[in-house]
Amino acid sequence: MLSDWVSFGYLISAILFVMGLKKLGHPRTAPKGNQYGMMGMAVAVLTTVIDMNYLPDGIVGWTIIGSGLIIGSLIGYIMAVKVEMTGMPELVALFNGFGGAASALVALSETWKWIETTSPESGLATTVAVIAAGLSALVGWMTLTGSLLAMYKLKGGIEVFGKWIRTPTWGPTWLNPVKGLLFISVLALIYLSIEDPTNTDYIWAIIAISCLLGIILVLPIGGADMPVVVSLLNSLSGIAAAFTGFIINNSVLIVAGSLVGASGLILTVIMCKAMNRQLIDVLFKSFGGSEKQELTRTKAGTDAEEVAMMADGAQKIIIVPGYGMAVSQCQHQVKEFADLMADKFGTEIKYAIHPVAGRMPGHMNVLLAEANVPYEQLIEMDEINPEFPECDMAIVIGANDTCNPAARTGEGPLAGMPIIDADQANTVVIIKRSLSVGYAGVDNDLFYEDKTMMLFGDGKAMMTQLNSAIKEL
Ligand code: NDP
Repeated sequence: MLSDWVSFGYLISAILFVMGLKKLGHPRTAPKGNQYGMMGMAVAVLTTVIDMNYLPDGIVGWTIIGSGLIIGSLIGYIMAVKVEMTGMPELVALFNGFGGAASALVALSETWKWIETTSPESGLATTVAVIAAGLSALVGWMTLTGSLLAMYKLKGGIEVFGKWIRTPTWGPTWLNPVKGLLFISVLALIYLSIEDPTNTDYIWAIIAISCLLGIILVLPIGGADMPVVVSLLNSLSGIAAAFTGFIINNSVLIVAGSLVGASGLILTVIMCKAMNRQLIDVLFKSFGGSEKQELTRTKAGTDAEEVAMMADGAQKIIIVPGYGMAVSQCQHQVKEFADLMADKFGTEIKYAIHPVAGRMPGHMNVLLAEANVPYEQLIEMDEINPEFPECDMAIVIGANDTCNPAARTGEGPLAGMPIIDADQANTVVIIKRSLSVGYAGVDNDLFYEDKTMMLFGDGKAMMTQLNSAIKEL
């Protein structure tokens, strides 16, 4: 009877997960999708807790479960409340790592249980469980160390004794055979564990090698390729959970893990397409250098009044948002500018959205949706690019790599990445604090073109000044 209710609870949560994923497909319905996902997880946790407590051997008491839930929820709540919008990508990377580690730890505790309570059986069930435990350890520990490194790469470095040290991007070609060798060793160790499932040395060796693999897989990836690695790690955390679901025979973990694994993989493919990369190249060719290019050129800046005068009479303006908009949180001022231009001069306003602008997939959509920018005005890169030659002004707000013409050349960390063709507009206004490089560390020729006006300053301050100047026209 209880098992029927448990299956029913898991079915409900699986349905909520699928509905949530479907709703996440569009910015308008995404908040609902998040709510469905949260409800699905709440039902899954509750069902599992009830199931565990009524198991004949009563694995754990309410005290441990209750404390775990309270402490975990508190940590999650504090982290989510405290995080700045610009810190979200790092938090997501960290959560991916925690997900992988949690799955690997559950798999480890199960393995321990077999070792301590049973004499090794050689049945098919044990073999499948040992393989699943080995794969869960491989993917889970690899996800943990890879995600921690990715988090520090997104942060820009590691703080040691109060000093920020840029996280290295290092990947000589001989590292690839090493990765292959380590991977094969883990498979060999899993095979040996099938022969002798009670030998703990194999387990520790699998954990150590998997941790090392995570580090050397992420170490060579940097610059503009980071979005790919973050979504891949997200997918891996789901795969680890699915393997663990097999070990503890928990259907909702298998379903949820497979959904995360599959959707993360789809996102990885989308990111690769956006970057014009093959996944295999991202993982093994080490495109993204970590060295910032030296800046040797200078360019005089303009002021808000001059930009307002240029904008006066513009029939069409395309706004190109980037990471700097997220840093300065100027999306509301950007929306105000669009409204002012449309009301005062009847200007047509559109937003050019690059798939990897900002520091997480959909970053610009989220920010602009928060400022109530109509979804119809958010145009994807491929669709908006042909419109730049007929546009009077492109206003680039805190974007750099995603409109850097260096990507059209065959060299450097941005090589081959499709960009927003802001340089094709009649006039280009770029709002940023200096001439400094973007995430990939590549100098941007667009800043130095004659038709480009640099409006130096913080995004919010400059947009506020620009709006005041427009009002006074
Ligand atoms: P970039 O990182 O290329 O450039 C952002 C620019 O914003 C900087 O040059 C900086 O210049 C400017 N900026 C920073 N703070 C402010 C501020 N307060 N006001 C105004 N400007 C500011 O941004 P893009 O969005 O163009 O490109 C994203 C990059 O991040 C790509 O290389 C992408 O691959 C990578 N990435 C993307 C991820 C994703 O999932 N979307 C994940 C990880 C990496 P200055 O200092 O002069 O102000």
